[in-house]
Amino acid sequence: MSTNAELFDRACRSIPGGVNSPVRAFRSVGGTPRFIKRAQGPYVWDAEGTRYIDYIGSWGPAILGHAHPEVVRAVQEAAVGGLSFGAPTEAEVELAELLIQRMPSMEQVRLVSSGTEATMSAIRLARGATGRAKIVKFEGCYHGHSDSLLVKAGSGLLTFGNPSSAGVPPEFVAHTLTLEYNNLQAVQAAFDQHGAHIACIIVEPVAGNMNLVMPRPGFLQGLRDLCSRHGAVLIFDEVMTGFRVGPQGMQGLTGVRPDLTTLAKIIGGGMPVGAFGGRADLMAHIAPLGGVYQAGTLSGNPVAVAAGLATLRLIGQPGFYDALGERTARLAEGLQARARAAGVAFSAQSIGGMFGLYFSAQVPDTFDAVSACDAALFKRFFHAMLDRGVHFAPSAFEAGFVSATHDQAVLQATFDAAEQAFAELAR
Ligand SMILES: *Cc1c(COP(=O)(O)O)cnc(C)c1O
Repeated sequence: MSTNAELFDRACRSIPGGVNSPVRAFRSVGGTPRFIKRAQGPYVWDAEGTRYIDYIGSWGPAILGHAHPEVVRAVQEAAVGGLSFGAPTEAEVELAELLIQRMPSMEQVRLVSSGTEATMSAIRLARGATGRAKIVKFEGCYHGHSDSLLVKAGSGLLTFGNPSSAGVPPEFVAHTLTLEYNNLQAVQAAFDQHGAHIACIIVEPVAGNMNLVMPRPGFLQGLRDLCSRHGAVLIFDEVMTGFRVGPQGMQGLTGVRPDLTTLAKIIGGGMPVGAFGGRADLMAHIAPLGGVYQAGTLSGNPVAVAAGLATLRLIGQPGFYDALGERTARLAEGLQARARAAGVAFSAQSIGGMFGLYFSAQVPDTFDAVSACDAALFKRFFHAMLDRGVHFAPSAFEAGFVSATHDQAVLQATFDAAEQAFAELAR
């Protein structure tokens, strides 16, 4: 049996940083990533056989808990029938129909294989359909790793951003305006100045990639109004929030209807599936109907689609989100209560099955406020919990996820660990 440390050493020799996606490397918390051997329900087991309560949930997809028997069975049955055809299947039509039925603003949808592909394609479509070049995004929102979306805010509100990754030429992000999340005035000002050239706004309707930041009342509707007035496309990136905050995503909870929506994570049930869709007149610009090119060898893959369909059917059962939301709220409240008892400045909130933990007395609602939280305390809390068998996301800039299998006993075990962890922090 190899230890996590041995595996990490070995991984670092063949894989840059030892991981296939950066946050897994524990860089912001230090220490050794746990190499997962298997997972079941709310638990993951590492290479050393240690069990953890998992609040990462594959970064969202594991809403039913890990390895749900019906999802696993669907995958096994699909696999026996062939792994991939490069030709259409009935199951992908079923998945498309289900997505359209559940997402209020979606009239047509195309399947892809990741969230990155979905957002990249939606932006190309918005640009192609409007004939405009500029896009608006918000600091702290993550929309995958395509070139034009890897931008950090410029110094002034209305300056165009700088690439936040090496390998992205400044010219590639010259059309990307990065504004402050929850600052509608900044968006108004951007449209006053550039309105005729803005193809789209892309936004996480609840920001889940800078910890969890809720939209202020009126922010999303304000974006809707500005886009409608200026002929720009409003894209809700619901890759995380879709089927996570409620049965119809954040558009269902708020009543705000985007023109395009991007999905991934839960709709693949743990397999690689993404999707982008929305108004039929916009979607008609996509090849082979229109001039906006988009394609994928493994798009609509039958095994991945089977996992997604099985997952969506199970979470479509009545009462699912009431129970999930109640548990997640109980987690946030329970952690807050233990922190208060220990005298640690801490706050927490949740929406549906996602939550945010903050080492600050008040829940932050801007990127700057999230950045001002106590990162050193988070790091100590993360390890104190990990040592006690509870695995939170290894970064203070990530949301957390609860599954249908995180029952009262799992929450209680989390609270017991948290009581000790907060006490350790207070010392
Ligand atoms: C995870 C995520 C993405 C990227 O999805 P990948 O499947 O990792 O490419 C895009 N947008 C949001 C909001 C996400 O949370």
